[in-house]
Amino acid sequence: MKAAMGFHQCQNCDEIHRAADLLHIKDLSMRVSPGEVVPSGECPLCGALCHIADDPNILRVGDIVMWWGNFGDAKAEEAEIESLELVRPWQKEDGKPVEECEFSLLAQNRVIVNLTNGRWAYGSQIESIVGRTK
Ligand SMILES: [Zn+2]
Repeated sequence: MKAAMGFHQCQNCDEIHRAADLLHIKDLSMRVSPGEVVPSGECPLCGALCHIADDPNILRVGDIVMWWGNFGDAKAEEAEIESLELVRPWQKEDGKPVEECEFSLLAQNRVIVNLTNGRWAYGSQIESIVGRTK
């Protein structure tokens, strides 16, 4: 079975995993009863079943993202989000602080992303979410 996208939580150890890190479920039919939510994969740490935990289309403070530090130049690096501000497209001042936003707003440059490494980015400099710290 192909795992769904987004973030998945282990029902045993509570770890959050990326879809790509989940393992194939062994003996699925013996572990899930009819009518139960079908799990998305096995926990790579403890082998228990994992279920979708969160909406991957929402970006949150504390998320780890791939970030393009220099337009079209450097390769993407991992960075953690310290805060998010909603702005008018391509503005970087007078933003409205938010705890989370729709990922689709990033491509429209309607979000300023402040990173814990002391840098900030326009939304379009954020490529993808790769992890979640809270
Ligand atoms: Zn686990």
